[in-house]
This record gives sequence, C-alpha cells and structure tokens, in this order.
Amino acid sequence: MSELVRTRQLRAGYGRVEVLRGADLVVDEGEVVVLLGANGAGKTTLLRALSGVIPGRGEITFAGRSIVGLSADRVARLGIAHVPQGRGTFVDMTVEDNLRVGGYARRDAAGVRADLARWLEFFPRLGERRDQLAGSMSGGEQQMLAVARALMSRPRLLLLDEPSLGLAPVVTKELFAKLAELNAENGTSMLVVEQAAHLALGIAARAYTLTAGELSASMGVDELADRESLRRVYLGS
Ligand code: ATP
Repeated sequence: MSELVRTRQLRAGYGRVEVLRGADLVVDEGEVVVLLGANGAGKTTLLRALSGVIPGRGEITFAGRSIVGLSADRVARLGIAHVPQGRGTFVDMTVEDNLRVGGYARRDAAGVRADLARWLEFFPRLGERRDQLAGSMSGGEQQMLAVARALMSRPRLLLLDEPSLGLAPVVTKELFAKLAELNAENGTSMLVVEQAAHLALGIAARAYTLTAGELSASMGVDELADRESLRRVYLGS
C-alpha cells in the first residue's frame, strides 16, 4: 500500500497553548486508521490541523506534496474531507441541497449529478428523504448525510470526528457497516476518531493512541487488543 498522508513532528494548538506536541502519523491509500484517546487529548485538534482548519507546524505530506500552511479550502480541493464532530449539516436545507453544497468546488456538472444519485442510492435512508430538511432527520440520518456530503467532493481521505456521538448503539453499528462498505467498494482512506472503539477497530487495520498531546507509535488492531492495559482503557475489557 502506498502512503497517502504522513505527518512528521506535527504541532498545533490554540493561541499560545500547544495541544499537539509533535505527532508522527501515516495513513496509507485505502486504509482505515483509528485514533483513540481520552477527552481533551487533542484528537480533534489533530484532525483540524490535517484539514487546515487550524494551522499546523511541522510536516504534513498528502499524496506526495506538502500541505502544511494551506487553507482548509485548498486542502479540501486536494482531496481531504473533514466530517466534524456534531456533523455540521445545514439544517435548513434539504438532503439534496446539502449534497450539492458538498460538490460546490467541482466543475463537472454531470459528475456531480452522477455522484448525487450514487450516494442517495448507497445511503437509502437519504434517498428516501432527499427533499426533507436535514434538521428534521434523526441523528443517524444526519450523520450519514454528513458523510455523504463529504463524499461529494470525491475525497481520497475522510477525516471522521466521533461519528457515533449521540447515536444509539444500533444506529452506530449501521453507520460503521456503511463506512466499511464504503472503504471496501470505493477504497476511500479514513482516519476515524471514535469512542465506540470496538466498532471502529472492527473496520480498521491500525490504531494510534493520543495521550495529552503525545501520539503513540502505530499499532496493528490485533496488537492493541493483546495489550492488556490498552484493552482495559479503550475496549473496557
Ligand atoms: P474530546 O474527545 O473531548 O472531543 P479531543 O481529544 O478531541 O477531546 P481537543 O478537542 O482536540 O480534544 O482538545 C484538546 C485541548 O485543546 C483541550 O484542552 C481543549 O480545551 C483545547 N481546545 C480545543 N479547542 C479549542 C479552541 N477553539 N480554543 C482553545 N482551546 C481549545
């Protein structure tokens, strides 16, 4: 597998407060990687630095080019889509219009139409609700809409920030099954921050843990399950 994104000694924070203190991370083409860590460890900050929402210092290479210092808009156009915590769908817009917004930077109108149809079919609950206002949908449906909207930009890397937040376990399970299907069918790489570690690790090859701004070395998912201390903290068993 070839490398899609790599950070070296990535640092980021807010004002003078440094949250992320030198993270080395890799996500390969077609790979799903999970980022685990306690509340406040800096997981969201790492995703924000990768997508250019906040400035990062150090190195970030995406598809062979340096993207450190680029705006969020430029990074999105290069192929990184960020689904933030809390989803960020436009609640007063219909499902279909939310998806159109996701494809705003594309010039290929026919391709946008084809992708719209494709994602409405891939997420049948969205297809059934294409004219419904996003704000009137269930949490799970809105999360699927947030993912589908991100896919409209044809990303090579999806950053997902706690997609299960606020969802019932059965809905979370359905969502992760869809993400697994998406990865298998489409080869979309994903970096997933998730508290529902069992489900996220079920679709991932590797994981990192972040503790107070310090990123661990990469671990295979089996290795994580074998380490008793990590298992207790992240898997509760
Ligand atoms: P959680 O699991 O609770 O979402 P997290 O690991 O994603 O946590 P971050 O959201 O990255 O953690 O936050 C890391 C630290 O940065 C926290 O101490 C937080 O208070 C601080 N922080 C986050 N956003 C901001 C901001 N906009 N301005 C100032 N400090 C912030």
